[in-house]
Amino acid sequence: MEKEELRVIPADIHNHSVLSPDGCDLPMEMAERACGLGIKHFALTDHIETEKFNGWDYAGAVEKSYGVFLEIQERFRGRMEVYYGVELGQPLFDLPLAEKLLAEHDYDFVLGSTHRTRTYPYLNEIPDSEEDRRRCLDEYFEEELRLAEWGRFCSLSHLTFPLRFISGDVGGHEVDMSRYDAIIDKILETIIRNGIAMEVNSSGIRKGLHVPMPAAEYVKRYFDKGGRMVTVGSDAHRVSDVGADIPQVIELLKDVGISEICVFRKKQPIFIPI
Ligand SMILES: [Zn+2]
Ligand SMILES: [Zn+2]
Repeated sequence: MEKEELRVIPADIHNHSVLSPDGCDLPMEMAERACGLGIKHFALTDHIETEKFNGWDYAGAVEKSYGVFLEIQERFRGRMEVYYGVELGQPLFDLPLAEKLLAEHDYDFVLGSTHRTRTYPYLNEIPDSEEDRRRCLDEYFEEELRLAEWGRFCSLSHLTFPLRFISGDVGGHEVDMSRYDAIIDKILETIIRNGIAMEVNSSGIRKGLHVPMPAAEYVKRYFDKGGRMVTVGSDAHRVSDVGADIPQVIELLKDVGISEICVFRKKQPIFIPI
């Protein structure tokens, strides 16, 4: 019985298809997998990286994404709730573009993300010196704070994202995270004040960090500050990763004391008991 409960995946609202430059599978295939796993709330959140908008056919993908959403919604009606989503990366790097995209598309769910900093365009290629790593993380959390202050999105993605490349199996470096306690507190207070959810992204578990992004201590800190809006996502870029490790994230949330997760329809939160 206990094992059965652990397999329940109430929602996965962070997924990428071939409408992202790094996605592997068709949108409908991703949705079929989600429904097959018994997921009740699903969103594709294909990337828009604002500063690279002209470097890949984002415009074409964005154009297609609404029709794709409608098709998926129709196919799974009555079995799985489907939301029109997007992952907006670095909106502050091209604010007019970000504002235009948000004005032109009536998204249900917008993830706000930082995948690079001003100095380090590729977090997976952070130069191998302690000083660089520190500078990169300093910049990253400052960027996250600015993003939270801007606030025109529903959920803040993968708060501890650069750790995936710096520590764990990939980078293997120890990071003294106490250096970021104050700014992370500020980020958490800002999203709570602005009515933005915190995402707990399960991809850290399978990508060598062995914990979600962010890890339990930050989820607890968010909860202790009064935060009650949490979204969950696998950040799958292929069919086989849809829903991956979300049951583990749900257990973590319950351990922290969180009893509901949320999804978004027309950018309004809907709470789901876990
Ligand atoms: Zn992301
Ligand atoms: Zn993503």
